[in-house]
Amino acid sequence: MTSFTRRAFIAASLAAGGAVVLPGTVSARAAAGDPFGIGVASGDPRPDGMVLWTRLAAKPLDIGGGMGTRNIPVQWEVATDQAFATVVASGTETAVPAEGHSVHAEPRGLPAGAEFFYRFKADGFISPVGRTRSAPAAGTTPAAVKFAMASCQHFEEGWYHAHKFIAADDPDLVLFLGDYMYEKQSGLADPVRGYVDFDEVDNLDEYRLRYAQTKLDPGLKAAHAAAPWLAVFDDHELANNWWGNGSGWPAARKQAAFQAYWENMPLPRTMKPTGPAIPLYRRVQWGTLARFHMMDTRQYRWQQAPNNNCTEIRRTDRTLTGAAQEQWLLDGLAAGGSKWDLLGQQVFFAGRDVDGATGTCDVSEDAWDGYEASRRRITQGWVDRQVRNPVVLTGDVHRHWANDLRLNYFDHASPLVGTELVTSSVTSGGNPGSSDPAPPEVAKNPHLNYVGNQRGYVRVTATGAQLSAEFVKLSSIREPDPAKVTASVSRSFTVLDGQPGLR
Ligand code: FE
Ligand code: CA
Repeated sequence: MTSFTRRAFIAASLAAGGAVVLPGTVSARAAAGDPFGIGVASGDPRPDGMVLWTRLAAKPLDIGGGMGTRNIPVQWEVATDQAFATVVASGTETAVPAEGHSVHAEPRGLPAGAEFFYRFKADGFISPVGRTRSAPAAGTTPAAVKFAMASCQHFEEGWYHAHKFIAADDPDLVLFLGDYMYEKQSGLADPVRGYVDFDEVDNLDEYRLRYAQTKLDPGLKAAHAAAPWLAVFDDHELANNWWGNGSGWPAARKQAAFQAYWENMPLPRTMKPTGPAIPLYRRVQWGTLARFHMMDTRQYRWQQAPNNNCTEIRRTDRTLTGAAQEQWLLDGLAAGGSKWDLLGQQVFFAGRDVDGATGTCDVSEDAWDGYEASRRRITQGWVDRQVRNPVVLTGDVHRHWANDLRLNYFDHASPLVGTELVTSSVTSGGNPGSSDPAPPEVAKNPHLNYVGNQRGYVRVTATGAQLSAEFVKLSSIREPDPAKVTASVSRSFTVLDGQPGLR
């Protein structure tokens, strides 16, 4: 496809999705019986295909989505052109009520490293057109991979304009690193948009409604339709700071949250939850250039340590990943053959000890700091395996951060062994205030190179020679009209091949 047609497609997508949907209202499109009001998406690309997603909802804000108890055949088509003159794959899936009328179509046998357009048909309606791509063929080396990182989008706290700019960037991939939605109402005194009509989502019908409400945002629809996503959840897709080890959380609520997550994300059928468990961690290969290790730091973690409790925090048997995932990660890192090993995950990886003194554990117990031994096993693991370019990609903390990684964060002269990029929130926290004082830990932790309290996302391009990251900030998330919102780069860094650390 020429760059002209790509740009034209993105412009058309943004225009189609760009109408302002008022809080709590259903678009005119859906009111007419159209079941495609919450959009289309794709994800988890392989060299020969990807997942194509939609969820039928003629009335997105009604329980059941207005689709009743019918099983509904949904046709899908993949073409090499936006007009669907050359259809290269097609099929029919059955959308069923037990899966929230979601569709997870998985075409196979497509050519590698190519762009495609896709659409669905059901009930006499035709869906918006999405654009996606297959991964490069195994053993080939693409010149570059370009991706966006995003996380944390509390619906009431603002408009998802970040996603409009992500779509316009024309990335190969979008990494969504958790808090796609929040189970609770915003604590913001003056919310921008209305919550769905109950206190806290905690059952399957309500989780489904919260996703549907989220997906009415025009910017979010545009980003889903623009590129394949690699999505992992963090805590708020279930509940604040949940932990999964043993019987620490109610099984029925976990089951409902995981089911709704799978139904609403472009995830393969092999990831469909079984009871209160979902196989979330997985790997996506981008030729010999990059490997994305998408991680799960919720389901297998021990309970958070008590506040500042060094005895518990420093127990050598604590784990954030669980033993099986840790071994899976280390085995994957040992495999070699990839220029960049990118760890897509949820919580802050670098040390962030407020007073910078090792005698006190004034850290975030929910982050890797609260699981020191788990972090050390993984960091030492990639050092021992001589991983060339480990880069951790993180969400969660509602600020942009750029961090050098060490084995010992209290030894400021020890060698750098990796890099971490942390994306701020899409909306969570609301518009930042006019002053932006650095958190106190910055002065005591010289490996924390940058922190910025803005709403936005991170734009990354990796080539054989370097990885470059741009921290993007938005002028406003309260302004409803995306045409009046601007995006700018607040800071940028590069990481050179074979040389850990930020420049
Ligand atoms: Fe968050
Ligand atoms: Ca301390």
